[in-house]
Amino acid sequence: MPVVAMREILDPAFAERYGVAAINVVDDLTLEAVLAAATELEAPLIVQTSLKTVKAMGARAFYTMWRVRADEVPVPVTLHLDHCPDRQWISTCLRTGWNSVLFDGSELDVDENTRQTIEVVAEAERHGAHVEGEIETVAGVEDGVGSDDAGRVHPVEVSAKFIEETGVYSFAPAIGTAHGLYKSSPELRPERVTELVALHPIPMVLHGGTGLTESQFADLISRGCAKVNISTALKIAFVESHREYLEANPGKHDPPSMLTHVREAVKDMAVRHIGMFGSAGRARAVSASTT
Ligand SMILES: [Zn+2]
Repeated sequence: MPVVAMREILDPAFAERYGVAAINVVDDLTLEAVLAAATELEAPLIVQTSLKTVKAMGARAFYTMWRVRADEVPVPVTLHLDHCPDRQWISTCLRTGWNSVLFDGSELDVDENTRQTIEVVAEAERHGAHVEGEIETVAGVEDGVGSDDAGRVHPVEVSAKFIEETGVYSFAPAIGTAHGLYKSSPELRPERVTELVALHPIPMVLHGGTGLTESQFADLISRGCAKVNISTALKIAFVESHREYLEANPGKHDPPSMLTHVREAVKDMAVRHIGMFGSAGRARAVSASTT
């Protein structure tokens, strides 16, 4: 299955109300591990990169690795750039081949964010790519983007107007979730998803998913959160599995064995989340709509 457009994966997910995991990878090992998880579950998958990861690896180097890996798997996959406030990097990724970008203009006022998002949507269209929009800051810093403050939350009508005026394909509403780990259980506002979908039926994106319960995921997905971002859970699996291995094997200097252990931990994390979101076995829904 070739790499497909974001729409090919999210349109059926939104229509049938299942969630597709959108996992932030950090390197070649995590990329291969999450693709292996999707293959095992016959699930569509969205692979994401933070701006920090793209800057660290270089867009061309990451994209080349992505194409080689993605072309090997039998399930539909697509590549998305997570929170990016920098227009130049948006352009670089679109030119290089990313299928979708989140232009994060949440630090701008809504009028300026709308104006710039319209430009990004037009630019993305020229590349056959899609745009995720955001007007409210998701609390918590992720890879150097964002702030710990929850920030303003606008009435849903303001979000609906933004969606209408910009033509974004998907939208990340503020629903009480936060990036990073929850210190106490979050006060979710799932009704905002329902209200927005009623006004504008486009796929909603769940940010700050790590740490939500299975029933919280299921509820938000049933309301229209078709793209479910997972970043913190991967970071934890990646770092803790290194730590576990090193603590269990002091004095051993065997990188391939350590990396095998890490790969299994990352793959297990991905399998667990994909299974929870209901997209296992859905790879065929996508191939049916593309062929
Ligand atoms: Zn996010």
